[in-house]
Amino acid sequence: MWKRMSLTGKILVAMVLGITLGIIFNYTGLNADGGFVNTYLVNGLFAIIGKLFVNSLKMLVVPLVFISLICGVCGIGDIRLLGRIGGKTFVMYMFTTAVAIATAIGLGSLVGIGKGMDLVPEVGFEGKQAPPLMDVFSNIIPSNPISAMANGDMLSIIFFAILIGISILMVGKPAKSLVQGLELINEVILKMVTIIMNLAPYGVFALLVKAMSDLGLDLIMQLMGYVALVAVALALHFFVVMMVILKVFSKLSVRVFLTKVREVLVFAFSTSSSNATIPITLRTVTMRMGVKNSVASFTVPFGATINMDGTAIMQGITTIFIANLYSIDLGLSQYVMVIVMSVLASIGTAGVPGVGMIMLSMVFAQIGLPIEGIGLVLGVDRFIDMMRTAVNVGGDAVVTTIVANSEGKMDMTVYNDPDAGVKEVFEGHIDPESQQTFSTVFDDGLLGSEYQQMPQTDHSPSGTKHDGNKH
Ligand code: ASP
Repeated sequence: MWKRMSLTGKILVAMVLGITLGIIFNYTGLNADGGFVNTYLVNGLFAIIGKLFVNSLKMLVVPLVFISLICGVCGIGDIRLLGRIGGKTFVMYMFTTAVAIATAIGLGSLVGIGKGMDLVPEVGFEGKQAPPLMDVFSNIIPSNPISAMANGDMLSIIFFAILIGISILMVGKPAKSLVQGLELINEVILKMVTIIMNLAPYGVFALLVKAMSDLGLDLIMQLMGYVALVAVALALHFFVVMMVILKVFSKLSVRVFLTKVREVLVFAFSTSSSNATIPITLRTVTMRMGVKNSVASFTVPFGATINMDGTAIMQGITTIFIANLYSIDLGLSQYVMVIVMSVLASIGTAGVPGVGMIMLSMVFAQIGLPIEGIGLVLGVDRFIDMMRTAVNVGGDAVVTTIVANSEGKMDMTVYNDPDAGVKEVFEGHIDPESQQTFSTVFDDGLLGSEYQQMPQTDHSPSGTKHDGNKH
């Protein structure tokens, strides 16, 4: 039965099994420190499999973003259009984040979360220094692109790739073979994403067993009101508000979108990292939803870096929760400040686990809330991080689709085809034609004449060859 199940089905089953087993380990005390389960399974086998899986995703992020963005810029072919797409995307990201935080504040105030609760911080929380926002902007231009790549500085990489793309366009015709070469590399990297996706059920299972076993269930129960409210706000924002926004701005089918975005949400949930999920998001929006690479290669990594709707929601609700716990009344101007600060913080929040909480110190400092209050919710942050990351990445996919649709950069046959981009993943498909050609190539030596005749798919610099499921 497992063999015949679709990959999405397998991933979802793995998710449920991982969560269940993890909670059993935690609840029954099997995960107690020093025990067999804790030492050899949770912190042994599952930790290793989970780490290998996340590493394999992260391994592809920088090369994929770098190469696909250069191809994307060449595919757009017009610098003004590039500016328009960039501007639209930025405005949409900021708009949706502001809506998210406003929803969170509305809901938090309505419920009066934290009022009358009696909790004393157990651990002192030393607010880690949030990176100054100025640094985020001044580091957009990397002084050393290689070190930016080594550090995974997404905005720097985006800038450098766009600059190369523009320069290639300026060189014009003589650079055609360079673009073709880059498109081939891009195609190869996407195949690597496909290979890794086949391993996803095992990776997701291992990550979730570990995360759930380590969870402080007692703490979650104690903070149930807070955790539940964040969960409700996240669900409300993504499944209702964002879907209305998708419908209003693009008229696309919400049902199709939700079916296809599922895998992205599960990956984000299991890894708690928007950045590590980039390869999957990019693959899903291009191959499953039909967004042209020329738009997605920019909007997806850009969103993973600056668009954090889920994080903003957590920040809004936590702010109200802690203020109420300390019986501090927030005035209108402070609420406005929370909105502004959270939107700014979302630009500065890197798409890696746990950073949202660090950025919250910045919001607290600005409106004068005691930073040690954050210590109260720190214990449940790992769990909330999983949920909010799914919403962060889901938001990137929504905006990507809206922007692509508004620019006519979508292949609707792919969007409406339920099997688009699926078949290849199941079968680990290797093109028989290229197999044949490669054996000729190897027999005759790489420089043999057959090499020149290698089957070329569509390498027009439109960057659209990944669309559809023609494989
Ligand atoms: N883990 C989140 C992300 O990668 C960021 C955060 O809120 O901590 O999107």
